[in-house]
Amino acid sequence: MEFDRLFQSQLDQLKEEGNYRIFAELQRECGAFPRVQNHGHGQDEVTVWCSNDYLGMGQHPTVMNAMIETVKSCGTGAGGTRNISGNAHHHKLLEAELADLHHKEDALLFTSGYVSNWAALSTLGSRLPNAVILSDELNHASMIEGIRHARCQKVIWKHNDPADLDRKLAGLPANATKIVAFESVYSMDGDIAPIAEILDVCEKHGALSYIDEVHAVGMYGPRGGGVAEREGLMDRITLIEGTLGKAYGVVGGYISGSRALCDFIRSFASGFIFTTALPPAVAAAATASIKHLKESSVERDMQKRQVARLRARLDAEGIPHEKNASHIIPVMVKDPVKCRMLSDILMDQFGIYVQPINYPTVPKGTERLRFTPGPLHSDEDIEFLVQALKTLWKQCAIAHAVA
Ligand code: PLP
Repeated sequence: MEFDRLFQSQLDQLKEEGNYRIFAELQRECGAFPRVQNHGHGQDEVTVWCSNDYLGMGQHPTVMNAMIETVKSCGTGAGGTRNISGNAHHHKLLEAELADLHHKEDALLFTSGYVSNWAALSTLGSRLPNAVILSDELNHASMIEGIRHARCQKVIWKHNDPADLDRKLAGLPANATKIVAFESVYSMDGDIAPIAEILDVCEKHGALSYIDEVHAVGMYGPRGGGVAEREGLMDRITLIEGTLGKAYGVVGGYISGSRALCDFIRSFASGFIFTTALPPAVAAAATASIKHLKESSVERDMQKRQVARLRARLDAEGIPHEKNASHIIPVMVKDPVKCRMLSDILMDQFGIYVQPINYPTVPKGTERLRFTPGPLHSDEDIEFLVQALKTLWKQCAIAHAVA
């Protein structure tokens, strides 16, 4: 009970700041996505506008069948770590698929994208001689944790600023092993890194390049290999990290790179060695999803169309949103309490689910609603969302004027 008081006081503080997280309770219905059943407050059926199942692959028949058939043939779990239970054949097939996706010699699976970043960066930073990790200031929490765990020297460079990276690399001793860690698509602002310029700087200083393409794989490039594929840069990057849990609609994470690099991480990363491997059925479903998106651009094309359409309609109605070159549309609210309130009203009155993005996911004062239109949102869904936002924005303007 004494402990509960300690827990509660910090929870109360979160609530006071408006940063206490309340999760919706939703149930996806296969075939109906982005429509889902709502078991929490609000309407019984809601339309999801913030999913990271960006292309709806989580309900694609090919992906589902691969998972179902593999459960029937191989059972559910992997039976342990790969160290103990060995590689499932489906793990190796998936790694070959990923290596091919990124035109690399090899790939290595992890239980999530978070774990892959954490394990790979901490292993590189702790094992390479005189390692220094240079991290973009807006890198994801999983990269930050990996770097922290590496306990090597860390240098933060200005977001998406190759000139600052250049200056910081130039200040390091010649015997340092320099590791430059950055993302392609930044998930909260939706901006895209100047990858070619960053690679120019890495090459000038002989630095290892580490890119997180979590919010890009499946969606960018002719085969879904990410922004680096689209820009013809994959061969210049030392390590490409990605997830199987977003556009591919399953779960898991990976790195891809040279055979020696993957073997090095496999051999030394505790986050790989000491945890139960992904179920073979998950690996088979992810393989099916990657294979499908290598061949099919239908989902990507439709996503691009719906993203452009929502942006155009928001512009036409004067609803402010951040301009960027990705599929992520942030609508800035800049206040945690208002952000939650808008999200609640959208859910309760309009059957629209978009979660408030508050601190610590984004810095305080930059709270936002983050919309991710996908190929399964209809034009009518977009119109309904825009009209709902228009109504709320009008009410806010009236409230503002009265105040
Ligand atoms: N990297 C970035 C940039 C992310 O945004 C996320 C998750 O949202 C991750 C890594 C972690 O990936 P996963 O959800 O597969 O653990």
